[in-house]
Amino acid sequence: MHKILMIHTGGTLMMRPGRDSTTLEPGDYTRDLLAELPILRTIGSIDTRILFNLDSGDMQPHHWVELAQVIHDELQYYDGAVIVHGTDVMAYTASALSFLLPGLDRPVVLTGAQRPIFEIRTDARANLVDACHIATLPVPEVGIAFSSKFLRGCRSTKLDAWGFDAFASPLCQPLVELGLGAIVAPHVLPARAAGAFDPRIDPNVLCVRLFPGLQPSFVSAAIDSGVHGIVLTAYGAGNVPHLENSLIPSIRKATDAQVPVVVVSQCARGATELRLYAGASAAAEAGAISGGDMTTEAALAKLMISLGRAPEGKVMEFVTNAFRRPLLGEMSKDLPMR
Ligand code: ASP
Repeated sequence: MHKILMIHTGGTLMMRPGRDSTTLEPGDYTRDLLAELPILRTIGSIDTRILFNLDSGDMQPHHWVELAQVIHDELQYYDGAVIVHGTDVMAYTASALSFLLPGLDRPVVLTGAQRPIFEIRTDARANLVDACHIATLPVPEVGIAFSSKFLRGCRSTKLDAWGFDAFASPLCQPLVELGLGAIVAPHVLPARAAGAFDPRIDPNVLCVRLFPGLQPSFVSAAIDSGVHGIVLTAYGAGNVPHLENSLIPSIRKATDAQVPVVVVSQCARGATELRLYAGASAAAEAGAISGGDMTTEAALAKLMISLGRAPEGKVMEFVTNAFRRPLLGEMSKDLPMR
């Protein structure tokens, strides 16, 4: 009999209409999810932990650390863990858990739903059944089980707020595809031994999505106000304005202040190529670090965690090194442009 640890953090899956009947509110977890969907018990014996009951819009980095700590301590007693989580922030949490739990020898499966489990037309039941099934497979990764797929967590992003097929990992094939059977992909990471849990994370970062008209003084003001790291979601292959409203002086100012600036692409299927255009090349000269083809979610999580671990006085070196290579398949290895 398989053993599964099911951790609840909240999200639409267990929500119910509130008093005004238009707003969904956090569900009542005294109503056991397993009572709603008893068939889950045929997949394995399931132990439940109710860690939070939040709309994931209220998740914070300290919640990631609490969640990762529980998984780190308890996963050894189970075949895998299922985390019920809101869809809005799921890709951020999945990315953070990947870096907080680098040593895994069994699956950590996040799932949720676009419609609550109590509704007739819901994706909750199928996603939960799939998640519990994946938790019994030899897939030692943190990932998202949604709409008949299991996606690498640190490659995933929420692309759809309406359809049931809400998540994609545009630059990484699914780890598992579920049809009549389950196909486990060959690029699943091998099992890694878990080390000691490291809870250090520095949430004092800023993400700036470039747009024409962005005032560089606002980015400079963020550096003055004590931000520790910046993710620039740049155009296309990492392009950054370098003429009117040039961001280059702000990037140089950040680098001089030991504030790493990581550049990722706004395109879902994009990689930064910091030598291709003059703007991107000037950004690299000013000290910008390429985030390669990482998602914004993964770049933010990796930045927070590497900032948390950087030795004093060595922040730039430490963070630059962390972004130089993939730790857990979060970026492609052989980007010709890096
Ligand atoms: N707002 C909800 C959440 O992220 C949406 C969902 O779960 O689908 O918690």
